[in-house]
Amino acid sequence: MNKKLIAGNWKMNGSLTANDVLVRAILTGLAPEASAVCDVAVAVPAPYLAQLQSLAVGSSLALAAQDVSTHEMGAYTGEVSAVMLRDFGVRYALVGHSERRQYHGETDHVVALKAQRALAAGITPIVCVGETLAERENGQTEAVVKRQLAAVIHLNGHCISEVVVAYEPVWAIGTGKTATPEQAQQVHAVLRAQLAAASDKGARIRLLYGGSMNATNAAQLLAQPDIDGGLIGGASLKPTDFLQIVAAAQ
Ligand code: 13P
Repeated sequence: MNKKLIAGNWKMNGSLTANDVLVRAILTGLAPEASAVCDVAVAVPAPYLAQLQSLAVGSSLALAAQDVSTHEMGAYTGEVSAVMLRDFGVRYALVGHSERRQYHGETDHVVALKAQRALAAGITPIVCVGETLAERENGQTEAVVKRQLAAVIHLNGHCISEVVVAYEPVWAIGTGKTATPEQAQQVHAVLRAQLAAASDKGARIRLLYGGSMNATNAAQLLAQPDIDGGLIGGASLKPTDFLQIVAAAQ
């Protein structure tokens, strides 16, 4: 069994004051022995990385970025490079979140390039894949997630064992409509088989579920054989809920 990973994705939420309260509550509630069975991370807006780095110093809470540039450095106004993220102790970076794909036109190839940049800087990319409601209703779920993952496997070859993959059905994000444990497991099994075919370490690659995961449904989702953790949006902004999800992973 893989060590679980519970990652909060704050999206574009937070303030210096609110972050301070939230992170202190999370740090207080994290059982010291929990880190042996479950890694915990928060993906925060880039301007708050320094604040989080200093709040989480010496703790088991890992820092994640919500995005990373495809470029190494140079004249790319507004971009943040993987090496810059590394300067702030960032351990993970989300790449290809559906909100990036949807609102910023990120293609499978761009997502694969981002994963490559993260890996080159020693940051673990959390590669997000997932189908829209229309794609599910058209029976395209498997084909869509396989295509999205294939692009990353193709570009990152032997490094693929160093990534984390998050299955986030778009129709379940922020809607309160969670995939059932069976629906999620079905897709995770497909992704697992694809990863196992690409790497002899495929069974060790962590597969997270994301999409309206909360304190009530987490335990059942996390009990599925191919679900190795969660990527949590809304519930990660509420310390009690987030800590309950972490507890469900233990
Ligand atoms: P919600 O948990 O708010 O549905 O968001 C999921 C998500 O997009 C995490 O990346």
